[in-house]
Amino acid sequence: MSSESPKNSEVKNFIYQEIDRDLAEGKNGKKILTRFPPEPNGYLHIGHAKSICLNFGIAQHYNAACNLRFDDTNPVKEEVEYVDSIQEDIKWLGFKWEGEPKYASDYFEQLYEWAIKLIRKGKAYVCELTPEEIAAQKGTPTEPGQESPYRNRSLAENLDLFQRMRNGEFKDGEKILRAKIDMASSNMHMRDPIMYRIIHKPHHRTGDKWCIYPMYDYTHGQSDFIEEITHSICTLEFEVHRPLYNWFLDQILEDEATPEVRPRQIEFARLNLNYTVMSKRKLLELVQKGIVSGWDDPRMPTISGLRRRGYTPESVRMFAEKVGVARRENVIDIGLLEYCVREDLNKRAMRVNAVLDPVKLIITNFPEDKVEMMETINNPEDESMGSRTIPFSREIYIERDDFMEEPPKKFFRLGPGLEVRLKSAYIIKCEDFKKDENGHITEIYCTYDPETRSGMPQADRKVKGTLHWVSASHAIDAEVRLYDRLFMNEEPDGHRDVDFKEYLNPDSLKTLAGCKLEPMLADAKPLGSFQFQRLGYFCVDKDSKSDRLIFNKTVGLKDSWAKANK
Ligand code: ATP
Ligand code: MG
Repeated sequence: MSSESPKNSEVKNFIYQEIDRDLAEGKNGKKILTRFPPEPNGYLHIGHAKSICLNFGIAQHYNAACNLRFDDTNPVKEEVEYVDSIQEDIKWLGFKWEGEPKYASDYFEQLYEWAIKLIRKGKAYVCELTPEEIAAQKGTPTEPGQESPYRNRSLAENLDLFQRMRNGEFKDGEKILRAKIDMASSNMHMRDPIMYRIIHKPHHRTGDKWCIYPMYDYTHGQSDFIEEITHSICTLEFEVHRPLYNWFLDQILEDEATPEVRPRQIEFARLNLNYTVMSKRKLLELVQKGIVSGWDDPRMPTISGLRRRGYTPESVRMFAEKVGVARRENVIDIGLLEYCVREDLNKRAMRVNAVLDPVKLIITNFPEDKVEMMETINNPEDESMGSRTIPFSREIYIERDDFMEEPPKKFFRLGPGLEVRLKSAYIIKCEDFKKDENGHITEIYCTYDPETRSGMPQADRKVKGTLHWVSASHAIDAEVRLYDRLFMNEEPDGHRDVDFKEYLNPDSLKTLAGCKLEPMLADAKPLGSFQFQRLGYFCVDKDSKSDRLIFNKTVGLKDSWAKANK
C-alpha cells in the first residue's frame, strides 16, 4: 500500500486501498482511469451523485482522469434530453470528465466483431427461445438449468443467423445471441446469458444503423477495456455479474497480446435514502403522471430537483463524503442531506427579511413620512460579507403568528402590552389591535422607543423576543413555495403489496402568495440562496421573473439531524 495520505479530509475507503495495492503491484502500467457510466434513460439522482463524487474523486486524488460514458444500449428508453441533463448535472457538481463524452454505442461495431469471435470459438450461439421459455429453463440457484435446443448449432449456421439478425431479417424477440457458458453454474448469470437482442427502433445516436443491441453485461466490461479504464466501480448488485464481466474479457483477450490495461470491477454499496424513491422507473412515473412538475421538481431526489430546491454543489459533495463508501447496504437519513445544505448555506447565504404570512403593524408615534435606513449585518458567520441598510417606516409587516391576542405565559413575541425588539431596529410595545368581523387580526398598533436603536443609550435594553419585519411601503410581493417530504413512509418502495404512490404526501407542496420581502430581493438572480431570518433557507426559483418573484424553501433552520446524532 502506498504511504501517501489522502488529500483534503477524504477518508480513505476500501476502494482507495484496492487501488493503492494495484499501484504497488505495478498493474496497468501504474495508470489510473475511472469512469461514470450512466444510462441516459432518466435524470440523475442523489445516488448517482454519490457515484460521481466517488469516481471523479478517485481521479482527482490520484491526479488521474475520469471518463463520462453513456451506457446507451437500449434505444427504447433512452433520449437526448437525458444525455444533456446528465452532462449539465455533472458539471454543476463541479466535475470535469476527460475529453469528449463517450458512448457505448460508439463501440457497437467492435462489440459485434467480438461477438463473431465468440461464435467462432464456439462460445456464443443464436437461440430462438422466447423470454418465457428461457426463464422456465433457467433453473434455480440450487437446480441446474436446461440447455437450449439451439445450443449446439453449427458454426456456419450461427454466423449466418447472427449476420441476418444484424441485417434486419427477423422481428423483435425472434432470435437472440447467447453466450455459451454453463447452464449448471451456481451463478445464474453464467447460465448462457443473453448478449444481443433484436430491437427495431432508431437509436438516438446510431439512428437506423443497428437493429441488434448488446446487453449491459456484454457491453460494459468491453467498453471499459476499449477506454482502458483501470477500475470499474459499480454498485453491489453487480458483484454477482463480476464473473461474467471477467469471462467476456477472457474470451476476447484469448490469443491476443496481453494488454497493458485490464479493467477490474469493484463494487460498493449503493446509496439508499429514507422517505425517497430512487428507481429511475418510479421517478419517471411521477413525472409522466404529473404527480410532480417535472424531473426538476424541488421535491424530487434528482440532482436537478435538488439544485432547484436550493442545494449547492458543495452541500451535495459534503453529503457524499459524509455518507462514505461501504461494502454493506444501509439506509441514510434524509436529515443528513438537509444538515449538509444548512451547514453550507449558514456560512454563505445572506440573511434577509421576509414575512410569509403578513399582518400590518403601525407604529403610531413614528412620523408618517419618515423613512430611516437601518444598518444590518449580511451574515454574522462571515464578516467579509459586510452589511447593508434596510428601510424602516411607520407601517411594517410582521408574521401573523408572531402576534397573539391572548398570549400564554412563555410567548416571547407580541401581544397586548408586550414588548419585542424589531431586528436591526427599535423595541416596540403593543398598545392595541383591530379585528374584522370574522375575528381576524387586521392591524396591530404599537409605539416605539426611539432610544433603543443601535448606537442609542437604550440599545442594549433587554427584551425577550426579536421579530423580523419589512417596511410595508417598501416591501415587494413574492410567491413562496414550501415543501415537505414527497413520501410519508420511510421506505415508500419497500412494501410488497402496496404501490409506492400510496405513500405520497398530499401536503408536500404549499404555495403562499402575497409574501412580503425586503426590497433588495427584487434583484435576486435565479437559484440565489438566502436565509429568511427565523424561517429557513430559500432560493429563487428558476421561473422567477421581476414581475413575479418565486422563492423555494430549501430547508428550515432547525437541525434535528445533528442533535439526534450527537
Ligand atoms: P437503471 O440501471 O435501473 O436504469 P441505475 O440507477 O443503475 O438505474 P445507471 O444510469 O445505470 O442507473 O447508473 C449509473 C451509475 O450510477 C452506475 O455506476 C450505478 O451503479 C450508479 N448508481 C446508481 N444508483 C446509485 C445509488 N443509489 N448509489 C450509488 N450509485 C448509484
Ligand atoms: Mg444501471
